[in-house]
Amino acid sequence: MSFFNSIGRSMSRAPRGPKRSPTPTSSTFPPDMPPPPVPPSPTTSPAPNKPLYLCSPFVESALVKGNFKTIVMLPKYVDIMEWVAVNIFDFYTNLNEFYGVITECCTQQSCPTMSASNALNYTWINQDRKSVHLAAPTYIDYVMTWVQNLLDDEGTFPTKSGHDFPQSFPSTVKHVYRQLLRVFAHIYHAHYPQILHLRSEPHFNSLFAHFLAFGREYELLEIKDVKGAPNAPIGIGALWERWREMGTLEG
Ligand SMILES: [Zn+2]
Repeated sequence: MSFFNSIGRSMSRAPRGPKRSPTPTSSTFPPDMPPPPVPPSPTTSPAPNKPLYLCSPFVESALVKGNFKTIVMLPKYVDIMEWVAVNIFDFYTNLNEFYGVITECCTQQSCPTMSASNALNYTWINQDRKSVHLAAPTYIDYVMTWVQNLLDDEGTFPTKSGHDFPQSFPSTVKHVYRQLLRVFAHIYHAHYPQILHLRSEPHFNSLFAHFLAFGREYELLEIKDVKGAPNAPIGIGALWERWREMGTLEG
């Protein structure tokens, strides 16, 4: 699949929707990137088993300071469906670009399961309604292709004037949100070193915090999906808690 085949959609939506959100993408990096940051040594790390994304300074690293509430609020005179649609389009596009950058590190060998923690591997529901384990790159390819097809479907994400959003739109976008959350969860769990190597942790954290804030504001996200089960918590749940303590996200 092509990671950058959505430009036509972007242009077709632009005249109706609000301006693109300022969420950055990998394409904003200068070609001559400075050397990667040095991870904290194990002796200075407060908890050796703590994932790097929960450690200082990475957990605080962001492009946007303060609370995300203001940038998720519905702008005046904008239809709420249109606002949700354009934001989902942006989250999908930006996440797809991040994944495109780290895709060579996410292989059948390195990631034989769609892991979100050492205790949780997501399963995919196949055409026979059976829950199956897939390698992470296969799972993510299925998710991204499915979302791209929905975004391209005029019946699901209408872009032409006079075309209304279908009644199923809220439930469809909740499904989309849950699957995109899983892609974030896998990248944080399995590929954070690559994000650090690219020095893109401020960008990636800001994208994810924006995604979480938006999802909570419009009730697209279930808390249990963010935190995982009590016996199988996921790392992004701890990140969410930390960002709430810091005031980045609302309670
Ligand atoms: Zn992977």
